[in-house]
Amino acid sequence: MDNIFQGITAFQDKVFPGQQAMYQRLVRDGQQPKALIIACADSRVSPEHITQAGPGELFVCRNAGNIVPPFSQATGGVSSAIEYAIVALGVRDVVVCGHSDCGAMKGLMNPEALSAMPNVAAWLRHSHAAERIVCEAYPEGMDPKSRHRALALENVLVQLSNLRTHPSVAAGLAKGQLRLHGWFFEIETGVLLACDGESGRFLPIDEAEAIPVAQASAVRVAAPEYSAARIAAE
Ligand SMILES: [Zn+2]
Repeated sequence: MDNIFQGITAFQDKVFPGQQAMYQRLVRDGQQPKALIIACADSRVSPEHITQAGPGELFVCRNAGNIVPPFSQATGGVSSAIEYAIVALGVRDVVVCGHSDCGAMKGLMNPEALSAMPNVAAWLRHSHAAERIVCEAYPEGMDPKSRHRALALENVLVQLSNLRTHPSVAAGLAKGQLRLHGWFFEIETGVLLACDGESGRFLPIDEAEAIPVAQASAVRVAAPEYSAARIAAE
C-alpha cells in the first residue's frame, strides 16, 4: 500500500491545488459525463487512461468480464449504473469494453479452475452465450490464444445484446437517442478496436476516421405511424 499512500499524498499536495477550480466546477454544475463505459475490473484496463479522460468525463462501471446481466427483477449494481447514467445523467453513448488476456474469459475456457470461486463461476454464466458461439461457429482445434481472443470479442457482442434488454436502453434506442459501442483493448499493443455494426467486425480506431459504432443512433419503432417523433414532426 506504500505506493498508493504516496499517490494520495502527491495528489493532495501537488495535483489537486492546480485542479481545484475544475473539481469545484464539477460540484457546482454537476457531472455531465460523455459516455457510460462498462469495462472489466482488470487493473490493466483503465477506461480513463485509455481515453485520456479527466474527472467528470466518463461514467464507469467495472466488473469481472465487462458483463451486463440481462434485465431482471433482481436488483443489480450494473443495472442501476445503466439506469442512472441514461435516465438521470442523459448519457447518449454506452460502451462495453473487453480486452486481451482477460482472466474472466480464461475462467470461461477452464471452468474447473473456478471450483474455489463459486461467485465468479455463477457471474460468468452471463457469458455462456459467447462460449457457445465460439464452440459452435468457430473452427475446432483453434489454438488457445486465438480461441481466447475470439471469446473475448464475442463476449463484448453478447453483453451488448444483454444491454438492449434493459428498459432505459431499449427506450433510448427506439427514440434514436442512444448509441451502443463495443470496444476491445489490446493491452500489449495499446490498440483499441471498435465494433462496426455494419460488418460485425472489430476495427482499429483510427484517428483519421470516426469511431466505428456497434449500433448507430436512429429512431426504430415497430409502429412508426404512432411514434412520438412523427407526431412531433407533424
Ligand atoms: Zn478482464
